[in-house]
This record gives sequence, structure tokens and C-alpha cells, in this order.
Amino acid sequence: MPELPEVETVRRGLAPVMEGARFDKVVAHRGDLRWPLPKDFAKRIEGTMVSGIGRRAKYLLADLSSGDVLVMHLGMSGSFRVTRNGGAQTPGAYYHERGKQQAHDHVVFVMSSGAVVSFNDPRRFGSMKLVPRAELGDEPLLRWLGPEPLGNEFDATMLAAACAGKKTSLKAALLDQTVVAGLGNIYVCEALNRAHLSPRRQASTLAIRSGAPHERTVLLVDSIKAVLNDAIKVGGSSLRDHRQTSGELGMFQHNFRVYDREGQKCPTPGCGGIIRRFTQNGRSTFYCRVCQK
Ligand SMILES: [Zn+2]
Repeated sequence: MPELPEVETVRRGLAPVMEGARFDKVVAHRGDLRWPLPKDFAKRIEGTMVSGIGRRAKYLLADLSSGDVLVMHLGMSGSFRVTRNGGAQTPGAYYHERGKQQAHDHVVFVMSSGAVVSFNDPRRFGSMKLVPRAELGDEPLLRWLGPEPLGNEFDATMLAAACAGKKTSLKAALLDQTVVAGLGNIYVCEALNRAHLSPRRQASTLAIRSGAPHERTVLLVDSIKAVLNDAIKVGGSSLRDHRQTSGELGMFQHNFRVYDREGQKCPTPGCGGIIRRFTQNGRSTFYCRVCQK
């Protein structure tokens, strides 16, 4: 499943070809993705301009001149392929291989910028929805989400307050989208290794008795922001070459410290531990029990 850095990289890949451009033609090859597409989907979008493409957690939000916001989610296997000037590019495809079979191109946007943007989704867990801008604050998909991990609102004080009294594991708390939005399994494992915190630690230990953040929480927040920014930077560098297609992009997994590295040496200087894997809340957790306490 694409995580926040991938989605942000997709946003940065779509912005230059969609922002300020008009939808000349919209083709929906089927009436549903994860959910049915909105009624008159193509008709409501065709002819409108995109004034901006934003992101909230793992949702992409395209602001349309009609007053609607096109809310898009990649789901498990969704990707956008941008075809322009004879080259094709799949932004954000830098950990999981993205689909290439055109049979899975479910929605196609022909933009006035000359780009054709195709949404490909073999497993169809992705979604597209049109929401009037004025109603976005009440949108059920978005309104329960916690703060953006890269935003100013997400800091040690906020995280400690959200975790104070929580009996769940630290890993489960960080995956809870109401605590912080958009973090997934990979980057939680990576951030916990950077912060030298065990995924099994009780979440409540991020706060001291007064409710204020423990100093480990400051390091954890810094680690979360750093790992996301590093991954976005790698994805961003992959956007420069428009000839690249899916699979060859970015390859942030070469930078993973623990994720998918069971049996390898922990990268923490002087640690000497071995990366272990265990199952936690049904997901694989990778960590070093020597330096992560
Ligand atoms: Zn270690």
C-alpha cells in the first residue's frame, strides 16, 4: 500500500501537468473503483480547471473551478501514469511495483496541458469522489483524521497528549490515523528505529505524569518527520527523468534501516544488533531489540 511519501510524490508529479490545466476529456472505463464513482462523474469534471492539487493524509485533493474537490485515494495498488511528449512517468512508484497493464486504466484524464493522466488500479481499492469545497470540513473520509505528520501541529506536546493513558503499543498508536494521519507500517518501523524506541513500548510512556512530553517523544517526532522528508526527497529526485516508468523509480527501499531487513545488522552506529521481525496487530514489525527500548 502506498504510504504518505509516495502519495506526496504523486501529488508533486501531477501538479505540473494538472494545475492550471483544464480537463478536456474524462473517460471512466467502469462505474466503480472501491465504491461507485459519483453520478455524472465525467460530466461534472469535463471543462473544469484545476486550481491546485493538495494532499490530506493519503488523499489527493484536486480543487476544481466548478467548486468541487476531486478527492482521490490510491488504495492498495493504484497509480497515476502521466503520458506526455511520448514519454510516460508513474510518480510515487518507488517501493511497490505499480500496474502497467492498460486493462487496469480505469479513469483517464485528458488535460489541456497536453498530458494524459491515467489512473491504473488492478485491485480496485482506490477511490474517487467529488465533494463541494464548502462541505470538505464535514467529509466523512477526512474529518476524523489526526494532524499531518509534516505539519506544525504535529509536535511532541500534541503526540504526548494523544498517547497519554493509552495502553496500546507505541506502534499501534502511531498507526492510529486519529493520532497522526497518513503513517503506515513501513515508516513507523523506520521512525522507531531512528528514535531507538521499541514498537512494543506502551504508548502512554510518551508522556510524563503531568501529561507533558517525555524527551524521547521529541526525538520520535523528529525521527518521523525526518524519515518522511528523506523518502519524499528520494521520490522527488525520481520525478526529474520523465522517461522512467514504474519500478525503476526512486527505490527508497535501499535506504530502509529495518523494514524488510530481517537478519541483517542494525544500522545504528555501535549497536551490533540484528534486525528481527515479529507480527504485531496482524502486521510485520521490524526492529532491533538491542538499541530500541
Ligand atoms: Zn540496533
